Amino acid sequence: MSNVEKTLSIIKPDAVERNLENEIKEMFKNNGFSIIKQKKIQIEKSEAEKFYKVHETKPFYNDLCTYLSSGPIVVIVLEKDNAVFANRKLMGDTNPKDADEGTIRKKYGISIDKNSVHGSDSVENAKIEIDFFFKE
Ligand code: UDP
Ligand code: MG
Repeated sequence: MSNVEKTLSIIKPDAVERNLENEIKEMFKNNGFSIIKQKKIQIEKSEAEKFYKVHETKPFYNDLCTYLSSGPIVVIVLEKDNAVFANRKLMGDTNPKDADEGTIRKKYGISIDKNSVHGSDSVENAKIEIDFFFKE
């Protein structure tokens, strides 16, 4: 049975800055994802705080929000069978040091805080995150 889902990916400032946008998009396409929507934007820190609200009690929250709003990002809606899990798998572990070979974070991530990509962690959060950036 097919189970087509959408998920939100963000190419984070460290990757956009290093001109990795096209290479990362190629990885999505080569892994069977369709790019349904995309835009390159820069967000305010207040928007980053809203986006990452789930992490507001974490010690890294402030730096994380400063970082996500520090430069251009590319927000992308990906579609594929079981897209949420498939994208988490393609991204690799949060800490690039622990990420498997062949994952985006292993290939391009610099550190746990500059790990090149975001990906929704559940179907429910994917809907919320897609709405956050693409609600008409
Ligand atoms: N993060 C960080 N330090 C940490 C843990 C997380 O800077 O100790 C950052 C990192 O950029 C990560 C983001 O916070 O991608 C969100 O954390 P989460 O645990 O949701 O990881 P993800 O879902 O991105 O793998
Ligand atoms: Mg997360």
